[in-house]
Amino acid sequence: MGHGVFVIDTLYLRPGLAASHLVVDDGRAAFVDTGAGPAAPRLLAALDEIGIAREQVDYLFLTHVHLDHAGGAGQLMQALPNARAVLHPRGAPHLIDPTRLIAGSIQVYGEALYRQLYGELIPIPAERVIVAEDGQRLQLGRRTFEFVDAPGHARHHFCVWDEASRSMFTGDTFGLSYRELASARGAFILPTTTPVQFEPEALLASIDRLA
Ligand SMILES: [Zn+2]
Repeated sequence: MGHGVFVIDTLYLRPGLAASHLVVDDGRAAFVDTGAGPAAPRLLAALDEIGIAREQVDYLFLTHVHLDHAGGAGQLMQALPNARAVLHPRGAPHLIDPTRLIAGSIQVYGEALYRQLYGELIPIPAERVIVAEDGQRLQLGRRTFEFVDAPGHARHHFCVWDEASRSMFTGDTFGLSYRELASARGAFILPTTTPVQFEPEALLASIDRLA
């Protein structure tokens, strides 16, 4: 996409639905969301293809802990020796100990579909987690990212502002855009109203703040 930002299709459910983003700056790299567990090998292959060593990845920015965004994070942490996982204060405990996250996901998807979509969920060691408060800034190479608390889709959601590309990584806060439905009138975007923490008023307030 330019500015050292790469898009990697995570092939969640089908091609073109969900992506992880890789940001590269001055020889350092960060993933923004990882996709589900089965996508982890694709993300590592993308590093090889772009020519980034696993040691050069400093961060996984995880907008929220829903498994289509962060399910593969534990697997990637095992493969990326210098990476730290950056999480919302309300989300971090659920990837350090995913017991409740797994139980909740099985409740939504059923055991068989859960296994098929997400595989095995690997915990992230607490000492490799950075908890990002609202307004916190982190440096990657020469660029700065700022974390913005963004409740509404989930209470444990943050968005990530990238000063260098003047882009906001919105996770599930801004909405879903099915690319096949884009037309001359623009993108087709609808709110992401997934259970179990959807709060419409908070979501509207977060979108106003992002804008
Ligand atoms: Zn979500």
